[in-house]
Amino acid sequence: MDQEVTFTKVDHIYEPNSPLAKLALSDISLTIDRGSFTAIIGHTGSGKSTLVQHINALIKPTTGTITVAGFEITNETSNKNLKQLRENVGMVFQFPEKQLFDETVIKDVMFGPLNYGKTDDEARQAASSALNLVKIGEQYYEKSPFDLSGGQMRRVAIAGVLAMKPEILILDEPTAGLDPQGHQEIMELVQALNREQNVTIILVTHQMEDVVESANQVVVMESGKIVKDGTVREIFNNPQWLADKQLSLPKAADFASKLGLFGHNEELPLTVDE
Ligand code: ADP
Repeated sequence: MDQEVTFTKVDHIYEPNSPLAKLALSDISLTIDRGSFTAIIGHTGSGKSTLVQHINALIKPTTGTITVAGFEITNETSNKNLKQLRENVGMVFQFPEKQLFDETVIKDVMFGPLNYGKTDDEARQAASSALNLVKIGEQYYEKSPFDLSGGQMRRVAIAGVLAMKPEILILDEPTAGLDPQGHQEIMELVQALNREQNVTIILVTHQMEDVVESANQVVVMESGKIVKDGTVREIFNNPQWLADKQLSLPKAADFASKLGLFGHNEELPLTVDE
């Protein structure tokens, strides 16, 4: 498979050369293939958000290099050169609905394409197909996004990112705070984007069921380092290791048995995340 994203010996220090300097990423080397579904897991504060924000150069490495679809990012990369990168890499932050702002759903979703130089017609078409993907029908187009339900608002916000037709989509805990139905809708959408549209997905999550059901690569972070990087099977066939790392295993027996990793009745540690 083609390589989509590579990190080579990346460190990130927040507020370097100050008493508050914080080494948030240390010696990160990582390869993510085109069209893959990579889950990033680990405790709060382990560096997951810092890692993914490098992929669209929202923050830059203190040392080391990141390449994204052939584009190289280092500490020296100028912000002027980032337009094409940002078009290629969609970023869905936590609680993305906080970024809704326009007076109607359709205008909100058209904002990105218009901002990137599309005509009104092109932007409308891109917005309409993105809203179609997130299952928001035309009857909502002229409504205020703030009159929708929480799950709908989140899907409209995600449509705003999809309207740019990104090749890589990064989602940082996209289902946080949603009810089970809202959660399922978002996960089905993300799986469909990956499987049907070949969008490379990078998902930061605390939900181990989602990792098992969707990911083909799992990256486990701890204290700014990658402590494990492998397939779902490689990560989850060692429940004791996960328990030692105190990574939560809700429904562990269920999903592990789906993978045929161990018997349903096996006693599994159920630990609390964060
Ligand atoms: P995660 O996404 O796994 O919760 P983060 O990447 O948000 O972890 O944080 C990694 C570490 O970097 C934490 O110790 C956090 O406190 C610190 N950190 C995150 N953002 C900043 C920032 N803007 N300034 C200083 N330190 C930060």
